[in-house]
Order: sequence, then structure tokens, then C-alpha cells
Amino acid sequence: MTTRQQVAEVEGWFTLDGAEPRLLGLRCPDCGTYVFPPRAIACPNPECPATELESVELSRRGTVWSYTVNHYAPPEPYVAPDPFEPYAVAAVELADEKMIVLGQVAGPLDGLAVGAPVELVIDTLYEDDEGEHVVWKWQVAS
Ligand SMILES: [Zn+2]
Repeated sequence: MTTRQQVAEVEGWFTLDGAEPRLLGLRCPDCGTYVFPPRAIACPNPECPATELESVELSRRGTVWSYTVNHYAPPEPYVAPDPFEPYAVAAVELADEKMIVLGQVAGPLDGLAVGAPVELVIDTLYEDDEGEHVVWKWQVAS
């Protein structure tokens, strides 16, 4: 069995560290506002004039703030497995930053509920000739 090349589906939004993957965000050193995804050019806080944001790794854990289960394949460019399998998307409040980050839910949906603790994992989005395209997902923590 060969190990397939892992390709981050979006560059610079998360680490590919297998055991302890992290989302990569920005933090305003003046007012402490967090930003994800990390592509702001100035602090999004309208009362803060800061224009230099620092790169930070965000919490790997959080709690489900809301979620939905999708029973229909989204349109392209989404690469749907055939046959299509329903999947969940969760809005998760990060443990330390208290910001909401959306993500697909990995693994079985048992235990998925508002308030459930989840942790960040890196999981397959789809595979092609380039390799295994991966993205962050939320997994219900045991
Ligand atoms: Zn700020």
C-alpha cells in the first residue's frame, strides 16, 4: 500500500500535523480580535485602527453552536462521493477564542448535538491524480 500525497485544499488555513492539527488564524495585538480565515488586511473591529495582525494557531477544541445535515449533493465544484452520503456541517465555538468556525463533521454523526464537545481533525475531502485533498473537519470528542 502506498501513502498518498496529502494536499491541503486551501493553502495556509490549517496545519497538516497529523496528531495535533490546528487552524491558522490572525489576532489583533491591540484589541485581541481573532480572525479566521487568515486573510484580513486590517483589524475587523470597527473601533480599532490596527493594520498589523499576527498569525496564531487557534484552539483545537470547541463546542457545537449549531449544525445541519445535508441530504443533497451540492453543485460542482463539490466532488460528491457516488453514491452520495449525507454529511453534517457544524458551526463550532472555539474554546479559547469564542469565535465561530464552520466545518464539515468527520466520522459518524452519533453524539452530534448543540453543545457537544468537538475537536479538529484533518480529513479527506476527495481524491484525484494529485493525491488526497484534505481539509479541516470537526469530530465529536469522546
Ligand atoms: Zn484590533
